[in-house]
Amino acid sequence: MNQIPLVDLKAAHEEVADEVRAGFERVLANTAFVGGEEVRRFEREYADFGGIAHCVGVANGTDAVELALRASGIGPGDEVVLPANTFIATAGAVARIGARPVLADCLPDSQLLDLQAALDAVGPATRAVVPVHLYGQMADVAALTGQLPDRVRVVEDAAQSQGASRDGRTPGSGHIAATSFYPGKNLGAYGDAGAVLTDDEERAGLVRAIANHGGTAKYRHDVPGFNSRLDGLQAVVLRAKLARLADGNTARRAAAARYDALLAGLAEAGRVVLPVTEPGNVHVWHLYVIQVAGADRDDVVGKLNAEGIGAGVHYPAPVHLTPAYRQLGHSRGDFPHAEAAADRILSLPLYPQISPDQQQRVVDTLTDALDG
Ligand SMILES: *Cc1c(COP(=O)(O)O)cnc(C)c1O
Repeated sequence: MNQIPLVDLKAAHEEVADEVRAGFERVLANTAFVGGEEVRRFEREYADFGGIAHCVGVANGTDAVELALRASGIGPGDEVVLPANTFIATAGAVARIGARPVLADCLPDSQLLDLQAALDAVGPATRAVVPVHLYGQMADVAALTGQLPDRVRVVEDAAQSQGASRDGRTPGSGHIAATSFYPGKNLGAYGDAGAVLTDDEERAGLVRAIANHGGTAKYRHDVPGFNSRLDGLQAVVLRAKLARLADGNTARRAAAARYDALLAGLAEAGRVVLPVTEPGNVHVWHLYVIQVAGADRDDVVGKLNAEGIGAGVHYPAPVHLTPAYRQLGHSRGDFPHAEAAADRILSLPLYPQISPDQQQRVVDTLTDALDG
């Protein structure tokens, strides 16, 4: 059976294979395995891509969120507000620095953080809000920043939004942003990798120091740190893929528009709800997430998967309903929009190389699955 994966990493590799091999040879020849010229170049190129002054390559996206928080002075005893509907790593990074994750609900249509809910969750101990640019479109960082007290920092989780912008602003153009280059992201490495973005030189330097045992020179330790560095081989892959990211995102937008058209009938019949783009967003469609109405979502996913279609769910449980965060003391009903979304959302295969025929087959199979 012909498989249509959720993300086609093989097709993505074919486009960069020669460049990656040549780059790996360079790194092997000069043994710059951690840091080095390829990493420096990638950091410069990725910063320029988003129009941000500083990019610090780190080991993964979760570390990037942690480092962005730590470099913002957030630590034990502080409260950090984040959406209830995010990948668990957002909460994990907050918990790992000894801060307390405080959840806020999402908007029912876009599933982005509800800014009013986030503002309502701010208390005397709150030191940061982490909006998540979920599925590839940005939360309104400018509006959020403008309404928060000065002591509360906005730390963007931009793991799903490489290349996205909102009203001309890109991730990191506010206080600070973190991103992930996990292989399946829009800009994916061949292992773990991530980055922190900021226009503030001092903050960038602090991230770099904390991520390198607390200092930027060998055996000089200015602040307590740990090891979260980007390696040369990943930087080679990221440079090759970054050169194709804008085109890939354009292809994703075209594929999303095609799904919108192919699914219009099902949407009109009230059987699915299509993804909504908030105004001002240039969406990069990390995921194309519909909501299933009037049918059992898990059943529909099961039928798609049985037909070789890599549909997924991002994510099946909001943070407060995972065993790991039961300690936050919430129960079902506390974040109704996040909970409703978790029960109904379904991600369809989407990647730059997906063909119109593949999308047609996805929609035909989905239609059959909804019919039972
Ligand atoms: C992928 C992701 C992360 C974590 O990135 P890793 O590189 O896997 O550590 C954090 N937040 C969000 C929203 C993500 O999608």
